[in-house]
Amino acid sequence: MATSWLEAFDLGDREVAVQEPHEERAGVFRRLREGLTRSRKALTVELSASFTERIDESTWEGIEEALILADVGAKTTAAVVRRLEDEVDAGEVSGGEALRERLIQVLAETASPGDGRIHLPERPSVLMVVGVNGTGKTTTIGKIAWHLQKELGLDVIVAAADTYRAAAVNQLAEWAARAGTQIVRGTEGGDPGAVAYDGVAAAQSRGADVVICDTAGRLHTHGNLMEELDKVRRVIAKQLPDAPHETLVVIDATMGQNGVRQAEEFAKSVDVTGAVLTKLDGSAKGGVALAIAQELGIPVKLIGIGESLDDLRPFDAEQFARALLEE
Ligand code: GDP
Ligand code: MG
Repeated sequence: MATSWLEAFDLGDREVAVQEPHEERAGVFRRLREGLTRSRKALTVELSASFTERIDESTWEGIEEALILADVGAKTTAAVVRRLEDEVDAGEVSGGEALRERLIQVLAETASPGDGRIHLPERPSVLMVVGVNGTGKTTTIGKIAWHLQKELGLDVIVAAADTYRAAAVNQLAEWAARAGTQIVRGTEGGDPGAVAYDGVAAAQSRGADVVICDTAGRLHTHGNLMEELDKVRRVIAKQLPDAPHETLVVIDATMGQNGVRQAEEFAKSVDVTGAVLTKLDGSAKGGVALAIAQELGIPVKLIGIGESLDDLRPFDAEQFARALLEE
């Protein structure tokens, strides 16, 4: 599981020289814990009574209630509790502290349904970012672009295919300037597919490494957003056979279970390969990461724990579960 930006990406056989020193792991974990404070408090208050020496029916009720409150979702919660119960019944786990440790491990497994890396192996590779308005698509793109360009030394182009709001283009342009990447933009209200096309064409002619495509989260017209996104995807695929190499859906953690339903809707229309869970810092619903992974089979690849550049982090399921449950 990824903890550094270099590990978070599959960049094929490209030679990557990390430009910036790695952050200390201890520092990263502390920030993660801080970012997850609200979720941890909600969970541990509920759970503290459960990790006693005696494990009985009320233990399971306490754990169940805590996970449901943290928006883990009913199905996933039931599966986690059943598994722990079986292990306790079989004598594999006994005592409160062992149970807490085992819960951390089971949650970590539940939260990682597969390869959590972001695959950008070709030159150019295309990363498409989708999600409802305000979830954090544009800032997430800005931060990814910054890490790829400044930290890993890749040549990145961002494509402003959210053509419905001039402010969205300007916001992306600010991030592009900060990250030192080129930005491709169209006319306001123009065809987003055309912008995506121009982004890929620019990358092909220049030999750039990665194109990151921003998209709209809502349409002004009565057009169907999902159809529009699928159109953008098809334009990209026609130009580059294996593209988009990654399609990340951005989910706002404060939305809780509604975020899970959003991810499901996007996954039906565009071939979503991963999720970015933002605003965990402002939410007690951190458990939604588990529901997305377990119920939809979509790996969470990045998490947002604040608005600054360093607050977007590669998702590490075990670190995440530990930051949620360790007192
Ligand atoms: P978009 O409409 O999906 O492109 O969303 P934006 O990128 O414009 O983000 C909407 C707001 O959410 C901005 O004010 C961001 O700074 C904020 N935001 C994004 N990610 C996070 C996060 O992880 N934590 C917090 N607190 N705010 C975030
Ligand atoms: Mg935006």
